[in-house]
Amino acid sequence: PLYHRAEYLLNAPNLKTTPKGVEYEVAFAGRSNAGKSSAINTLTNQKSLARTSKTPGRTQQLVYFKLDDQRCLVDLPGYGFAKVPPKIQQQWQTELERYLEKRQALHGLVLLVDIRRSLGEYDRQMIDYATHLNLDVFVALTKADKLNRNNAKNTLFAVQKQLKDSPGNVQVELFSSLKKEGVEQLHNWLDEHLNV
Ligand code: GDP
Repeated sequence: PLYHRAEYLLNAPNLKTTPKGVEYEVAFAGRSNAGKSSAINTLTNQKSLARTSKTPGRTQQLVYFKLDDQRCLVDLPGYGFAKVPPKIQQQWQTELERYLEKRQALHGLVLLVDIRRSLGEYDRQMIDYATHLNLDVFVALTKADKLNRNNAKNTLFAVQKQLKDSPGNVQVELFSSLKKEGVEQLHNWLDEHLNV
C-alpha cells in the first residue's frame, strides 16, 4: 500500500518552508509519549521512520514524510513537555496556528491520545481548533492493548460521548501499535482525506 512507501522528505520550521506541489496532507499531533512515533511507524510499516526516542521539546518543526508526489504525512511536535521555554513555546504556537489555518494541502488531523490518560486540555484545544477550521479529526486511543477489552471499549464509548457535540467531523477509534489494532480504520480514514 501507499503508506508503506513513506519516506522522510524534510523538516519545516514554519508555513513558508513547507514543500510546494503537495496537494494532500494529514498532520499527526499528540502529547509527548502518546505513541505518535510508534503509530506513524506502524502505519508505514517501518521500524524507525519517525524516531521513537527523541529529545523531548527539542526543535519544534513540522516533519514531512512523502507518500507520493502529491501526498504527505506530517508529524507535528509532541506537546506537554515543560522543558520548552515559554517564549519558544509561544512562537511555535503561532507558527502552528498559521500552518493549520493556511496550509492549503492540509485535509485532516490525526490526534494520538494515550487511552489511559484520556483527553487533556491541549487535546481538546487541538480538536476544537481543527474542527473550527473545518478539518476532520481522527482520534486514535493509543496503547489500547494496555487495557482489557471491556475497559478499552468503555473508554472508547466515553470519549466518543465526550466528543459527540463537537461541531466538526470527529472519529474516535482504539489503536495499538503493539497489536496492530485500528490500523485498517486509520488507513481507510487517511485514504479518504488524502484522496487516495
Ligand atoms: P511519542 O512521544 O508520542 O512519539 O510516543 P512513542 O511512539 O515514542 O511511544 C511512547 C512509549 O509508548 C514508548 O515506550 C512506546 O514503546 C510505547 N508505546 C507506543 N505505542 C504503544 C502501543 O500500542 N502499545 C504499547 N503497549 N506501548 C506503546
